[in-house]
Amino acid sequence: MPYILIMFVTTAFSLSAVEVNPSKNPLERLIQGNQRYVNSTTVCHEDWTAKRTALLANQKPFAVIVTCSDSRVPPEIIFDQTLGALFVVRVAGNIVDDFAIGSIEYGVNILGADLVLVLGHSNCGAVDAALKGMKFDNHIQEVLNAIQPAIAATKSQPGNLLEKATKTNVKLVENKLRTSKPLLSQLIEKGTLRISGGYYDLETGKVEFLDKQ
Ligand SMILES: [Zn+2]
Repeated sequence: MPYILIMFVTTAFSLSAVEVNPSKNPLERLIQGNQRYVNSTTVCHEDWTAKRTALLANQKPFAVIVTCSDSRVPPEIIFDQTLGALFVVRVAGNIVDDFAIGSIEYGVNILGADLVLVLGHSNCGAVDAALKGMKFDNHIQEVLNAIQPAIAATKSQPGNLLEKATKTNVKLVENKLRTSKPLLSQLIEKGTLRISGGYYDLETGKVEFLDKQ
């Protein structure tokens, strides 16, 4: 009987655990969530039935995450966030086209997120293929073509080319979003939107935030 009681208490506790006093600064909130994930002190294991019900009428994500489709980089897990917290756009190589920018605009303008984080990651297959100049006679080539400007900007630099190209690609995508008209550039000018970059390390689980200022 005591054993059953312990199990019940443990389960009840884990179902009710949520973020305690999350930062009002969305970037800080992501930093805190990633620290919990890295330290395996994740708290976002909720009563999913109740959470789904609470979110039925609307959603109010606090950040838009633009990241790679890589199965090892799921934003909700690596930032220890629950349903309704992140509006996520995922494309191989975390590049953006009009559909992606339209989705980001929806997350920002309609749903109210005031941070867009562009997140690259170590050992990115898309950036690696672009770096190696691999050729495909299908749509994969379109993805590699979109990453080429980052390859061109970094190929003569010393050091880890894959990491440098991936971080440069993040910067170029950030810049594309910052200058995107009519909406994103205007919101940045008004000071109501921040666009930031990150680099996720597959081995440590840590996100390096590339522009914390
Ligand atoms: Zn990738």
